[in-house]
Amino acid sequence: MQRFTCACGHILVFGSTHCPKCDHDVGYDPDRGVMVRLEPKGGMKLCENGVKHKVCNWLLSAAAPEKLCLACRMNRTIPDLNWGRNLMLWGKMEMAKRRLIYTLRRIGITLPSKAMNPKAGLAFDIVSTLSNPTVTTGHLNGVITVNLEEADDTYRQINRQQLGENSRTLLGHFRHESAHYLWQRFLSELSWEDPLRMAFRERFGDEWVDYAVALGNHYQKGPVAGWETSFITGYAASHPWEDWAETWAHYLQITDGLETCESMGIQVRHMALPLVMLPVEAGFLPTILKHEPAANDEFLAWLQRWICLSKVLNEVSNSIGESELYPYAIPVKVAQKLRLAHHYAKVWGLDKSKGTKV
Ligand SMILES: [Zn+2]
Ligand SMILES: [Zn+2]
Ligand SMILES: [Zn+2]
Repeated sequence: MQRFTCACGHILVFGSTHCPKCDHDVGYDPDRGVMVRLEPKGGMKLCENGVKHKVCNWLLSAAAPEKLCLACRMNRTIPDLNWGRNLMLWGKMEMAKRRLIYTLRRIGITLPSKAMNPKAGLAFDIVSTLSNPTVTTGHLNGVITVNLEEADDTYRQINRQQLGENSRTLLGHFRHESAHYLWQRFLSELSWEDPLRMAFRERFGDEWVDYAVALGNHYQKGPVAGWETSFITGYAASHPWEDWAETWAHYLQITDGLETCESMGIQVRHMALPLVMLPVEAGFLPTILKHEPAANDEFLAWLQRWICLSKVLNEVSNSIGESELYPYAIPVKVAQKLRLAHHYAKVWGLDKSKGTKV
C-alpha cells in the first residue's frame, strides 16, 4: 500500500474518511490513486455506500450518473441491513474487498464489473450463513461469494483453529478467491498447449485431478505429510487449483506488505540483518517459458527483501506480546511458484484487451 497524504500535509491511510489536522472529510480517488479532500466544488463525490452506510471511502466524479464507486458497483448481493450487526460486519468486508481491488489495479489488471461485462467481469455476493445456511465462500464463473459471518473475529478464529490454519483473514479470502477468478479469466481459455498453461502444470501439477475428491480427501485426512517443503499452506496441497489460489493470495500479500513497508520509509539495506540468500533457482520460471535472468534476479531480490522485513515484523509482534505476524516459511519450490505468479501478474497487467476499462 502506498503512503497517502492530505492536501494539508498530514499522513492519511487507505481507510481514512477525515483528516484530523485540517478537519476536512477525505476519500480515495481510485482513478488517480490519491486521497483527496471532499470539497463542495472539488468535482468528486463520495460513494453512496459511504454517504448512507459509512462503509466506503471511495470517490467518483461528481458528474458521473452512478451513485456507487467502482468497487461497490461490483456487488451483486449485499447483506440484510435491517440487522445492525450486519452493517458492522459488512463494513469490514468492504474494506478488505477494496484493498484487493486496489492491489489488482495497481498491478495493472483491469477489473470490469460483471454487470458491464458478463463474460470476463467480476461480481461479489456478500451473504450471511444466518440468512442462507447453504452459502460457502468461493468463486464460480466470475462471482466471488463470501460468508459475512467470517467478518466476525470470533467466528473466524474458531474456523481457523478447526481447520489448522496459521492465519485466516478477510483479505486473505478475497485474495484467494481472486486467484480462481483470474485463472478462469486468463488461463482456462488458453489452449492446452499454450506455454502459459503448460507452465501452470509444470509448477502446480495437473489441474484435472478430480477436484471434489481431492477436497474431500483434504477435509477428511488433513494435509499430506511433508507439505511444508513444497506448499505455502497445508490447504494448498489439496489440489493444483488451491495451490495456485494460496500462492496467488500469498503473492498479493507480499506485494502489498512490501510496498507498505517501503512507502513508510523502511529500507532493508539499513537493517542490521543479514540478507537471506535464496538459491538462484528459487527465481526460475518453468522450463517451458523463456529464461529471463534479469527478471529472475529482480524477483529474488524482491522476495529476499520481504523475507528480511517479515523477520522484523515477527520480532515486533512478539515484542508487543502477540504471536508471529507472518507465520510462513518460503522453501525453494514455493518461491518458484511465486515467481510464476509474478510472471502472470506482469502478463495480465499488460493485457488490456481482456477487460473493459473500469
Ligand atoms: Zn488535512
Ligand atoms: Zn463504494
Ligand atoms: Zn479455493
